[in-house]
Amino acid sequence: MHSRQTFLANMNHELRTPLTVLQGYLEMLEGDYATPALQQKAIEAMKEQSQRMANLLQQLGVLAKIEHSTNADHQRLNMSSLISAMQKNTDMLTDSQQVIFDVEPDIYVIGDEGQLQSAVSNLIYNAIRHAGEETTIEIRWEKVEQGAKFSVSDNGIGIEPQHLAHLTERFYRVDESRSNKTGGSGLGLAIVKHALEQHQTRLEISSEVGKGSQFSFIIPRELVD
Ligand code: ADP
Repeated sequence: MHSRQTFLANMNHELRTPLTVLQGYLEMLEGDYATPALQQKAIEAMKEQSQRMANLLQQLGVLAKIEHSTNADHQRLNMSSLISAMQKNTDMLTDSQQVIFDVEPDIYVIGDEGQLQSAVSNLIYNAIRHAGEETTIEIRWEKVEQGAKFSVSDNGIGIEPQHLAHLTERFYRVDESRSNKTGGSGLGLAIVKHALEQHQTRLEISSEVGKGSQFSFIIPRELVD
């Protein structure tokens, strides 16, 4: 299928679920059998679904902006601080998981701060949302021979091999039925891929079902100091 057509078909699919939920509750509120308790439930559900649609549009906006960006405004930035600063957010987001940061200090990168922040945070939040409870998530940033390497490793549910090549496609999810629970847009890894491409960097994914996953990238030496 033509990519524009695929995109429209996907958007249609993504918007249908929240819209159906909204319509259902609106109809219920219209009838006069809705008790105050039901009304309250309806409002909560409608808020959640409209938030979902707003997130989708926000993520699409981020993706479009990255795709159309150039490296004209890339700057030297302290990537180590950027990664370490994520720690206080992750501490708040999870208590059943252990999140470990192992960050080599003062590794600078030439790049776009917003895009690198998106890449790093999407990979970390994905591990938190998808790896499962009682897992350990390890975030590393270190100098390597080819440049500087960032990785997020978890010992969670893992991903079957046939999905790996598709994960960075827009809207691709391994398990559609879990996506309501995890609440993602399915755009996270597409954003990561495009943000990294703007830095001559490729996302590497390795995973084994039941053992865990690793998402990593190496910023090339020319952009690191
Ligand atoms: P989503 O909004 O669903 O998180 P992403 O593009 O960020 O979309 O990720 C695509 C899919 O990859 C997710 O729906 C999930 O199935 C899978 N995934 C991503 N990270 C992990 C992980 N650390 N462990 C297991 N599955 C993952």
